[in-house]
Amino acid sequence: MVAQAERELVQEQLEDLRSSCSKGGGLLPGEEVVSYYPPEMEQQADLFGLAGTNIDGTQWETGDTEARFPLHSISKVFTYGMALEDNGLDATLRRVGVEPSGDPFNSITFDEVNNRPFNPMINAGALVSANLVHGASKEERVDRLLERYRIYTGNSSLEVDQKILAEQLRSNDRNLGLSYLMRSLGMLHGDIDDNLFVYLSMCSITVTTSELSMMAATLAHGGRNPITGDRALHHDHLRTVISVMNMCGMYDAAGEWAHDVGIPAKSGVSGGIMAVLPNYFGLGVFSPGLDRHGNSVRGIAVCRELSARFGLHVFADPNDSRFGRVAQPELA
Ligand code: GLN
Repeated sequence: MVAQAERELVQEQLEDLRSSCSKGGGLLPGEEVVSYYPPEMEQQADLFGLAGTNIDGTQWETGDTEARFPLHSISKVFTYGMALEDNGLDATLRRVGVEPSGDPFNSITFDEVNNRPFNPMINAGALVSANLVHGASKEERVDRLLERYRIYTGNSSLEVDQKILAEQLRSNDRNLGLSYLMRSLGMLHGDIDDNLFVYLSMCSITVTTSELSMMAATLAHGGRNPITGDRALHHDHLRTVISVMNMCGMYDAAGEWAHDVGIPAKSGVSGGIMAVLPNYFGLGVFSPGLDRHGNSVRGIAVCRELSARFGLHVFADPNDSRFGRVAQPELA
């Protein structure tokens, strides 16, 4: 168990970061809210939640950690995990690479040498992940995935938000165009509408910031939910999933993130960021104001500062930081 003093220090620092990154509410310069993801987000621009979960199950929360928001691109991580389990690493790699693309999340670019999307964290690659998930029908594929997402969060009543799904299916020209092009190139197979239904259903699952931190902690905990102990991802695929997050999780700002924050992470256009420090903890942040890459502005600010204060950057010396790596559970 985490010692009381360390527990309090982390809580204090999270609260401090939340208030120092809030800047009195409203949007920060350069922030915008992507309105159709969903439209209500515009009214929710001030929401700001921060939650951490250690692999021993210790949890911290501050701010609007109970507000629900759609996972959007964060879902790409978990769907990719399922694709790996259903097909194995080699077959999955033949269909989608592990190379950062350096392009925006919805760009229409491919690894032409290998005839596949660059990685599963951009839309093209995520559409292939959805394509790789087994199931006799689109409903069965969604159900199988949803079951896993429930294990990650520990919330057995987690659901796809049908309103958000309908909204996304309505404003889906780019993903449709991308899908048709990819099918013509042999990268995507079968029914395109079914595949988009699967992909966008996962994007439309709503979580709280606390649940997001639990999803991250499950990845940090070798693929097992730290509270329930249930397995969400086979440990053979953890390294692949977390490596891809590390290099490609923040779209075309992934390099800057890896340099400044140095924690494998994934963001989504509703303003969520999930960060995973293997064998240590998972972090969830939610704040809908986005930068031009589609990443949460406050989310990045908080993670950067947290990484610096606690020496969390994977390549940094924790002793050079203000507090060092406190509350790090002993590995059994
Ligand atoms: N649902 C969104 C889409 O496919 C996800 C994008 C994102 O979060 N970057 O366009």
